[in-house]
Amino acid sequence: MTETTFTTLGLAEPLLRALTAANYTTPTPIQAQSIPALNAGRDMIGLAQTGTGKTAAFALPMLQRLESVRQPLVRNCPRALILAPTRELALQIDQSVKALGRHVRARSTVVMGGVGFGNQAKAMAAGVDILIATPGRLLDLIESRHVRLDRVEYFVLDEADRMLDMGFIRDIKKIVALLPRERQSALFSATMPEAISSLASDLLKDPVHVSVTPAKVTVDRIEQHVYFVDAGNKRTLLTDMLAKPEMKRVIVFTRTKHGADKVAVHLVKSGIRAEAIHGNKSQGARQRALSQFKSGEARVLVATDIAARGIDVTEVTHVINFELPHEPESYVHRIGRTARAGHSGIALSFCAGDERPLLRDIERLTKTPMIVAMGERGTAGFGPRPPQQRNNGQRQGERQGDRGQPRNNNNRSQQRRQGAGGAPRRNRDARAA
Ligand code: AMP
Repeated sequence: MTETTFTTLGLAEPLLRALTAANYTTPTPIQAQSIPALNAGRDMIGLAQTGTGKTAAFALPMLQRLESVRQPLVRNCPRALILAPTRELALQIDQSVKALGRHVRARSTVVMGGVGFGNQAKAMAAGVDILIATPGRLLDLIESRHVRLDRVEYFVLDEADRMLDMGFIRDIKKIVALLPRERQSALFSATMPEAISSLASDLLKDPVHVSVTPAKVTVDRIEQHVYFVDAGNKRTLLTDMLAKPEMKRVIVFTRTKHGADKVAVHLVKSGIRAEAIHGNKSQGARQRALSQFKSGEARVLVATDIAARGIDVTEVTHVINFELPHEPESYVHRIGRTARAGHSGIALSFCAGDERPLLRDIERLTKTPMIVAMGERGTAGFGPRPPQQRNNGQRQGERQGDRGQPRNNNNRSQQRRQGAGGAPRRNRDARAA
């Protein structure tokens, strides 16, 4: 059997040159599966997380198509639209598109909340081929007539499940309604809840299904430990942990922006170089924090789930969940930061008494019990422990009772959806970070 290469996938020479310059030697599985289907003009649904190479999987066929049928730029009218849930992800996609498209003429720009409106409107007026956008700002620009979608030939919805979590689904539907019927579309999502499959069936025509990262496979390469610790002792545990030399590049996750700030301040006071990244920071401050972390100047990045979406830093040695997320899917996203580009990684979770039900939800999703590194699994949220396993320090999550109860977080998801869906749209991109 011949080996799959970017050449055998049928990519044009200018793209192959850009791939060589970017040091992409072999297509990742999602690229190998998606590129031929997208090049053939098919719609696609991809079950894949950040870190799998999905950006190039949709960007390469997009660039190839735009280049092979060149058209003059038309004021305010992009030919390709990529929707991303967060500013970080949008910027990262733009970087990839620019890197991969360096030898073709396609022009791209980003529109997103949190930065001035004027330059984005100007860029649109000059004409772009590829528009990368967060949903709220895109709708604002459409309303103010700085963007028109009636010439879009190629549409990508990235991280669709996160869009749903962030209450963007109504915005997405509005945007999709403005797209021409005749177009090629691709949807990517790390998970496939019912709402996303139904959105996909509205959006896509006879799509090719590509799946590369079931949650189980992704977390397999990651060592996962849990520390049962009182909320008040988490900070001390964190600083003790970070004193270890093997903690070379660490992302610490908190649930709230305020929590991220508090943890970062505590670390800095304890003599540990740390930066916080979340939506209350300006775009410039966020980019600075990220580049200090990337360069190693700051060893620790304290982040909220949403701000960390799409952050692509290789060689993150540890992810520490200072607080467990409400959504178990977010846990999978978080720990995925530490096992990128084929590396294995370590994820450490701090679990206070009231977080035990969250731990149970996570273990049920990942089907991987965490190794107990400190404290003991209590009964709260875990059901009774069989007597033979008491005090033996075993991987207690493997017990039947730990995951045998029905999950019931419907009310929580409902509240979140109502909260998110009901907020005025202009605030959304601000929240989206
Ligand atoms: P993504 O899932 O698109 O966020 O990509 C994850 C990371 O993998 C990014 O740093 C890409 O630059 C990198 N990457 C994507 N495709 C390849 C490839 N074929 N070879 C090497 N690195 C890649």
